[in-house]
Amino acid sequence: MGYDLERFVGYVNEGLLCCVCRDVLEDPLQAPCEHAFCSSCIHGWLIHHNNCPEDRLPLDITHLRPLFRYMRNDLAKLQVRCVFRPQGCEVICALESLHRHEEQCDYALLNCSNAGCPVQVSRRSLEAHLCVCEYSSRVCASGCGYTIINTEEAQHNCVSELRAELDMLRAELNCKVEEVKHEMESRLDSQRRHMVQKESLLRIEVDELKGQLSRVMSDVRVLLGAERARRQELERAELEKAELLELLKKEGLRPATPSEAAPPPAEVQRKHSSRSLALDCIKRKNREVTVI
Ligand SMILES: [Zn+2]
Ligand SMILES: [Zn+2]
Ligand SMILES: [Zn+2]
Ligand SMILES: [Zn+2]
Ligand SMILES: [Zn+2]
Repeated sequence: MGYDLERFVGYVNEGLLCCVCRDVLEDPLQAPCEHAFCSSCIHGWLIHHNNCPEDRLPLDITHLRPLFRYMRNDLAKLQVRCVFRPQGCEVICALESLHRHEEQCDYALLNCSNAGCPVQVSRRSLEAHLCVCEYSSRVCASGCGYTIINTEEAQHNCVSELRAELDMLRAELNCKVEEVKHEMESRLDSQRRHMVQKESLLRIEVDELKGQLSRVMSDVRVLLGAERARRQELERAELEKAELLELLKKEGLRPATPSEAAPPPAEVQRKHSSRSLALDCIKRKNREVTVI
């Protein structure tokens, strides 16, 4: 949409008016037929048409070009009133510097910076408004630490505010404690289950070990029995040895050797030969002992 013709001071050439909105060209474009339009106006028109709105000659969006330089210069020099004239701005400036002025215009309408405040106020009176704005906030002067807005100041009560916060924190804390308790309980539960499992495993192991121990004990008993038998055997052998030595002594005293006498009966001879063998053994042993 173009600039309202009413805002312009002095004569405005008809060639600088938009063929669509009939206002002064804003962000202008030109068709090959030399008709000019505001950019937004002609783009809107070409959505539903494919011709020039003035002479109906065929027109496509790709045919649009910037305005002739001399026309752009004429347009830029047009004298126009500030858009904030209703708010009190008396400024009239060239169209080319209008935008810059309006951005800084003291009469420009701004939204109050306090959250929630619906007031729109000119830039020059914003400061005054902020001093009385009901939505301006400040930290409580009584020291509770709360930020309160002007509209709530009358009802503000430090003690009740703090009490409410305390209650909230307490509820939060209780909630957390409850949570931790639950977690600990479930952890304990799982540990207990684990322990029970372990205990039964250990019991099985102990039983197994007991079985092994009893087997070992019976083995030991058998071995002890065998050892006892061996010892008895040794004792018997010792006795026999002593007996043989005794016999040897007696035989050594005899004048004749048995070989010289009549040959002994087979049984006696066998006995004798086995004895003499044992004696030899003993003698040899005695000799060895002597050597040592
Ligand atoms: Zn227009
Ligand atoms: Zn045309
Ligand atoms: Zn202004
Ligand atoms: Zn305000
Ligand atoms: Zn307070």
